Amino acid sequence: MTGTHVSYRERGEPPFEGEVDYVVVGSGAGGAAAATTLARAGAKVAIVEAGAWREPEHYPNSAYGSMRDLMDDWGAQVAMGRALWPVVQARTMGGTTVINSAICVRTPADVFDRWEKEFGIGRAGGKGRLADRVWKHQDDLERELSVEEVPVDALGRSNVLAMKGASAIGYDSHYMKRYVKGCVGSGQCLQGCKKLKKQSTNLAWVPEVLERGGLVLSSAPVAKILFDGRRAVGVEGRFDHPRTHRAGSVFRVRAKKAVLVAASVTHSAVLLQNSGVKSKSLGRSFRAHPGTGVFGCYDDPVDQNTGATQGWASTAFRNEPGLKLETLHIPLELVASRFAGGGVELMERLAKYRHIAMWCHSVRAESVGTVRAGFFGKPMVRYGLDETDMLKFREGMYLLAKTHVAAGAKSVLPGISGLPFEMKADEIEKIRTGPTDPRAYIAILSHLFGGTVMGASPDTSVTDGSGRVHGYEGLVVADASVIPSVLGVNPQHTIMALARCFAEDLLAS
Ligand SMILES: Cc1cc2nc3c(=O)[nH]c(=O)nc-3n(C[C@H](O)[C@H](O)[C@H](O)COP(=O)(O)OP(=O)(O)OC[C@H]3O[C@@H](n4cnc5c(N)ncnc54)[C@H](O)[C@@H]3O)c2cc1C
Ligand code: SF4
Repeated sequence: MTGTHVSYRERGEPPFEGEVDYVVVGSGAGGAAAATTLARAGAKVAIVEAGAWREPEHYPNSAYGSMRDLMDDWGAQVAMGRALWPVVQARTMGGTTVINSAICVRTPADVFDRWEKEFGIGRAGGKGRLADRVWKHQDDLERELSVEEVPVDALGRSNVLAMKGASAIGYDSHYMKRYVKGCVGSGQCLQGCKKLKKQSTNLAWVPEVLERGGLVLSSAPVAKILFDGRRAVGVEGRFDHPRTHRAGSVFRVRAKKAVLVAASVTHSAVLLQNSGVKSKSLGRSFRAHPGTGVFGCYDDPVDQNTGATQGWASTAFRNEPGLKLETLHIPLELVASRFAGGGVELMERLAKYRHIAMWCHSVRAESVGTVRAGFFGKPMVRYGLDETDMLKFREGMYLLAKTHVAAGAKSVLPGISGLPFEMKADEIEKIRTGPTDPRAYIAILSHLFGGTVMGASPDTSVTDGSGRVHGYEGLVVADASVIPSVLGVNPQHTIMALARCFAEDLLAS
């Protein structure tokens, strides 16, 4: 490698100073996609990443280890609303691509129609329709990241059962396509793929930036973007110890051409805010696909942790009621956290572990929240689902239960407060009249959008259709926070393709 990787430096050591053409803050889906595009064009690029650089052999085995080593704030951040639902993202080299399931879905055409109509985003950088540009990049990304359908040998029984249930009911579903090359079905995607099959950006792209002469800082959370007037000219912060999180020495990286912020939905808007960027819309339009799971109990062992972590999906309900269905295999400790009770009762429930399959939904919710700097400048999300979204949410749980029953489950465990812990097949209709109070459900937010949304008007948006922050020079946002609506499908493919478009526009400008 001809580039340089700089990791944690102790407090008291001289400040680290660097200078490049472009500084990219964050190495996840958006940041790494933009960085490779710039580096391939011959630019000198620095990736500055808050999280530590971890080799796959050092990925943790347990959910606890994943929270400790790979997740932002131990996965303990919650959206403040009527219910406190966890907001899950990674903080590690490679960002959330390290802990996600690598599901790859192209951006639906109706998303671009909406962006054009509501936000004036249709053409950017004078290079043609945004939709065509994004889809072209998605073609390239699918080749580059070896997108494949889950191999038959790696499906595992849970994914096969879901397909059986959907077929029995008669709705469309499919085995997933993911950025994975030769999945062996170890069911460990959420802890990082030790088998080196998942094409997370720390493996697929960060080394390429180094090979092209780039600079990579790990354990280096940017505290501030540096400005000369209204022009972004670099970033600075203090190194953060990968284990103890003790603050280390100062780093400062100057950007001759531009700073690209790709620190995730919860961090990008807050970083701009902490750096003094002024925009009426900053931190607004936070959106998500909230989701939860329903367990099915089967006579024969399912052994959900054998097989691809997520291998089956249906988009049949994307428009009505507005959600996506998927399988999701979670480890025993997370199952325990979903089951009510304690002591002998909990142990008896957990004894069913080998016989249960968890399937989940993600809701195309229209509710809107905010993400702003809270205590000590850390992100604070305010968000809750309105009644319309809660009806979709509840209906999705019914659809999951129905699919389990159609696949042969003897009972389902919906996890809804106020309803029985276990429901027989003939009881699942009760879910449809269950509560619409979000506090009755345990959900998570893992697909996040907004905070620095794109739009033609600086009055209602933070960035333009090329991710450039209105009213500033050399400052671009290139991650999920520019996305002004929910997608109704998994977002990584859209984020990476948009980031590539923005990097191209920068090179052309
Ligand atoms: C458990 C889980 C499973 C998922 N599965 C899928 C899936 O299968 N398919 C899919 O399409 N989507 C999936 N998603 C969503 C997808 O992973 C995210 O939407 C996507 O990674 C977001 O990209 P991003 O670039 O905006 O942020 P991220 O990928 O989160 O990257 C942001 C990076 O910025 C770094 N950072 C933050 N603050 C700073 C700072 N101040 N200075 C320097 N660096 C900073 C972070 O450490 C992080 O590395 C999943 C999400 C989760 C949580
Ligand atoms: S299921 Fe296992 S082998 Fe397949 S991508 Fe996930 S972690 Fe890697």
